Amino acid sequence: METIVPGRTCGTGNDRCTACCKSLEISVRDFSKPAGAWCPHCDLGRKMCRIYPYRPPTCRTFRCEWLKGWGDADERPDRTQLIFDFHKEGFFADGLLQVFEVSEGALEGDFAIQKTREVTGYGTPVLYLPLHGRKRLFFPPHDILEADIIAALEKEDIDIGVLASA
Ligand code: SF4
Ligand code: SF4
Repeated sequence: METIVPGRTCGTGNDRCTACCKSLEISVRDFSKPAGAWCPHCDLGRKMCRIYPYRPPTCRTFRCEWLKGWGDADERPDRTQLIFDFHKEGFFADGLLQVFEVSEGALEGDFAIQKTREVTGYGTPVLYLPLHGRKRLFFPPHDILEADIIAALEKEDIDIGVLASA
């Protein structure tokens, strides 16, 4: 078990977080699974990977932001039912925060709203990846949405998110 930041681990035994075994999409030569579905190799009762020594690179390399020290100690993804993953791609070369929903409804809760407000408030877009329905992208307040960004979002079937007023 790896420790990147003191006090932050994926856990052990029955206190192990396996949230990313549901949220990540895996596509390797001999095995694939969609995002949002439990991995068939995850033993849900014992909270462990049955093929741990041979798990795919996606699993080996994934480190959620909580594991890297972001957020409070009690906000491990299996407790919040949300996984945060800072990501750089395409239009968002400076990065955006992906939020994977581990159980349905978690993205609609106060915790998600509070984090989204906090992160967009310091200038980083937040992308919601719900278990069902369309993805939503929340922009920092006062960001001007260029036409090419709007067109790209439409092409990717991503809605523009709007937070309820505080
Ligand atoms: S979601 Fe984070 S804390 Fe949970 S198992 Fe994956 S990497 Fe570990
Ligand atoms: S292969 Fe193992 S570590 Fe990877 S998602 Fe499946 S159960 Fe989790």
